[in-house]
Amino acid sequence: MKTQVAIIGAGPAGSLLSLILHQRGIESIVIERQSKSYVLDRIRAGVLEWTSVELLESVGLGERLHKEGHRHDRVKIGWRGSEILDIEFQRLAGKPMMAYGQTKIQEDLYAAAERENLNIIFESSDVEIHDVTTDNPYVTFTTNGETQRVDCDYIAGCDGQHGVSRGAIPFKRRSEFERAYPFGWLGILSETPPLPELVYANHKNGFALCSERNPMLSRYYVQCPLEDTVDQWSDDRFWTELIERLPPSIGEHVVTGPSIEKSIAPLRSQVIEPMQYGKMFLAGDAAHIVPPTGAKGLNLAIADVHYLTEALVEHYAGNSAKLDSYSETALRRVWSSVRFSWWMTVLLHRFPEETAFEQRMREEDLAYLTRSESARKSVAEQYVGLDY
Ligand SMILES: Cc1cc2nc3c(=O)[nH]c(=O)nc-3n(C[C@H](O)[C@H](O)[C@H](O)COP(=O)(O)OP(=O)(O)OC[C@H]3O[C@@H](n4cnc5c(N)ncnc54)[C@H](O)[C@@H]3O)c2cc1C
Repeated sequence: MKTQVAIIGAGPAGSLLSLILHQRGIESIVIERQSKSYVLDRIRAGVLEWTSVELLESVGLGERLHKEGHRHDRVKIGWRGSEILDIEFQRLAGKPMMAYGQTKIQEDLYAAAERENLNIIFESSDVEIHDVTTDNPYVTFTTNGETQRVDCDYIAGCDGQHGVSRGAIPFKRRSEFERAYPFGWLGILSETPPLPELVYANHKNGFALCSERNPMLSRYYVQCPLEDTVDQWSDDRFWTELIERLPPSIGEHVVTGPSIEKSIAPLRSQVIEPMQYGKMFLAGDAAHIVPPTGAKGLNLAIADVHYLTEALVEHYAGNSAKLDSYSETALRRVWSSVRFSWWMTVLLHRFPEETAFEQRMREEDLAYLTRSESARKSVAEQYVGLDY
């Protein structure tokens, strides 16, 4: 097979990239390891920056998003038992956030791929990248027991944190920056009405987050030790712990019910530099991971796709300046989101080895945010995301 851009991975980054390139007249073939239903069943992110909403609208994916998504104009943070810090995004930063599950975005992307006849090859194993530093790079993989080869101009590595693409950058040419956090998030989905707002909490037992997927589907998380397993967390234990961590005036409104999904995710920050090597470009989780505290992972993947499509479109029109500086451009936003997600994580969790001093520092940060509108404005601006 031959195409202009071979894309590895059909998660949000790879399938969005293929869609936008197609709409801008550039051909691609997407090679995905999993089956379509497996990708669609993965429960992941849920909160979109407004910039991401506008980008999805601009490629024709706005209709269901606006019908089924839920706008959030503020976030509340509970701390020191009953105190509540209110950060009003819309008033302070001029934009809201949108709760709309990654599962739905993926459904919308695959529906658009079908409508526009995009070439996504599911269940492709043994993907290998070849000759990225030459003018004739190619990708090989196995599907239906046969080895296939795609010759291309460029390769986009959109294959997430466990993909093969980042490994195509030689060890000597690659820098990895990493922070692993000493706790995990136990998350549940329940078919119960969510709270009207996004709510975070810092409590002596640890962090908690109340989020949503739709008006009858709630997503809740509590910080837990990394060694814990879901078997140790009955639904009753989960609800008791969640409600205890929230300020009582918020906790009393949580509607409990059986969980329909329960999992524990470790938290990590990681950045791979550079995000381009020869004819290959990384986008999304293939290049960076953030802890979900700042709701940035999916939004960063969408931002990378924006920068990469702009760069490829200009390149094929005769100007390669943006393509040459893709890594530099994308990394500016990446590091800003990595810093914000790290800061939110430190602000809102309890670390196993910390002392009373660290907690006093955290509470002073929260007290300052409560007193100062300028401080809240700065957080609001970073939470809703800067313009591209
Ligand atoms: C449990 C969990 C909860 C999360 N919660 C949030 C949240 O609340 N907010 C937020 O903003 N972000 C969250 N994230 C992060 C967000 O989901 C990711 O940032 C987002 O999925 C990134 O999209 P992507 O397309 O770059 O990567 P992925 O979604 O990982 O997609 C990569 C694709 O590549 C495929 N692939 C991998 N290896 C290969 C290979 N060798 N060959 C071919 N295909 C391959 C994979 O099957 C996958 O389909 C969460 C992530 C997880 C895991």
